[in-house]
Amino acid sequence: MYNNRGRDMAFDGINCVECGGSEFRLVNDSILKRKFPFVRGDNLKMCEKCGAKYITCDKCGNLFTRVHLSTDLWGVTDTCPSCNALNEEIKAWIARGHP
Ligand SMILES: [Zn+2]
Ligand SMILES: [Zn+2]
Repeated sequence: MYNNRGRDMAFDGINCVECGGSEFRLVNDSILKRKFPFVRGDNLKMCEKCGAKYITCDKCGNLFTRVHLSTDLWGVTDTCPSCNALNEEIKAWIARGHP
């Protein structure tokens, strides 16, 4: 756990890890959907302040992990920071060594 602000802030599933914002809205991003099999039309949220995008947890509805076009394996986690739910789809995606 880090207590620093900004980019070193630990992702807690509630606030944007980039800007600390807490307001998000559902967005539909066909490019991210094509790139990531676990991005659907109903689980992608964007930070109102900075535009960072996250998928949401199917179990608790909080932010699950950040996704953007240059996201690599290190940027995606398969476990929800809020409720510890494991996303099997992401786990399999990481295991396949994508992208
Ligand atoms: Zn943000
Ligand atoms: Zn969760």
